[in-house]
Amino acid sequence: MIKSPLSLVSTRSPDLSEERVAVSLLSAVEKGLAEDGGLYIPKKVPRINWAAVSNSSFHSCSVSFLEQWLGGALSTKKVVELVEQALNFEVPLKPLIPTSLKGQEGVKSFQEQIHVLELFHGPTLSFKDFGARTMAFLLGERIRETGKSVTILVATSGDTGSAVADGLSGMEGVRVVLLFPASQTSRIQEQQLIVKRTGVLPLRVKGNFDDCQRLVKGAFEVQRLQDLNLSTANSINIGRLIPQMLYYVWAAKMLGTPHISFVVPSGNLGNLTAGVMAHLSGMPVSQFVTAHNSNDFFSRYLSDPNASQTASIRTLSNAMDVGSPSNYERLFALLSPVEMRELITGMSFSDDKMLETMSRVYSETGYVADPHTSIALAAAFKLREEAGSPSRIVVLSTAHPAKFPETVELATKSTVEKPMQLKELETRPTFAIDLDPSQKALTDAVLSHEWNR
Ligand SMILES: *Cc1c(COP(=O)(O)O)cnc(C)c1O
Repeated sequence: MIKSPLSLVSTRSPDLSEERVAVSLLSAVEKGLAEDGGLYIPKKVPRINWAAVSNSSFHSCSVSFLEQWLGGALSTKKVVELVEQALNFEVPLKPLIPTSLKGQEGVKSFQEQIHVLELFHGPTLSFKDFGARTMAFLLGERIRETGKSVTILVATSGDTGSAVADGLSGMEGVRVVLLFPASQTSRIQEQQLIVKRTGVLPLRVKGNFDDCQRLVKGAFEVQRLQDLNLSTANSINIGRLIPQMLYYVWAAKMLGTPHISFVVPSGNLGNLTAGVMAHLSGMPVSQFVTAHNSNDFFSRYLSDPNASQTASIRTLSNAMDVGSPSNYERLFALLSPVEMRELITGMSFSDDKMLETMSRVYSETGYVADPHTSIALAAAFKLREEAGSPSRIVVLSTAHPAKFPETVELATKSTVEKPMQLKELETRPTFAIDLDPSQKALTDAVLSHEWNR
């Protein structure tokens, strides 16, 4: 069967499929947002032959899935290069085993219950590396195709900015402007944002995350910036969602059962949407659980269609402090409300419950989970208690605990060992410009920066 290459349409274009204007993958990655303000989704979610997806390694699994999914939008050679260059780190799946059971009978049945899928072994220690590095690869292909350089603006409150900066730094034809709020990121997150990188301008905004987002949006209207071919790299970029399907597929292949409940620590719902796309393509699952902190709009919505969005609340799992999740629009375009409720269960937990869970997991199993993963672990425990017969539960672990030493030490009373990526960071020079939260200040900073140093 000959497949046509993947093409993308806006979530807001009319539903008469013939009239939808489709764009290529690389063009959608360059644009970020569709012209009508919508988000790009596949014109038709590709169905793949699940049995033909390899289970021998993350690398070959990813290549065999992507080749089918992209339907020739990238050559096989490019798909192999993408996986080798952008996704060149480990993706371990670890069973949570109680210390009291280690090495004993009974371990096997316990093992079948909760697994943690560690997605934080990339250069900036969060799962954002999957999306950012793939986006960088695809953007590089696009620039080779058009010869046009781009300036990427990113508003970040946590992990996105450093993953994007790390992925894009030093690329021919790419400049990156990072905007982050002066005192809303953790100490280590800020350190990761301001290390000196070629082609990256970090701006420490005297304001909050909403100010940063407002400035990024506003920049697209500024005449003096028109020549820079502006784009953005938030999770609205389809180039970030595509690689995020791969680790779900890999976990499903490794466990080899259709009865998996994936538990996803959620904020903007990009990670969840990627899982849903993999499922619609042919990956069998039992269900998805979307686990939220006190920013619980989506989990309320799943049980009450009249639930309303709210302003974001600050919590200890700060990368999930999102009041109105942007990928909600994609989920809505991909699933009917009935399908959504059948496939996805929502749960939310307070900071206290998160800390209690982190502490419980550490004392029972010796496993140290970061605050975001601990929200998902709280959901996994609740699911296990509620479900009659235990299905397999896979908890997505989105960040390395060493990124949040204060919180982890508070809950576990032990110190986290720094991975090599963080030790290396401390030796590097830093650079950032303090910025007043005004459009003019941003424009001036971007135009007067000496980009080639
Ligand atoms: C971004 C982020 C999340 C939330 O992911 P979404 O795709 O926005 O739902 C969860 N955990 C960590 C550590 C993150 O950085």
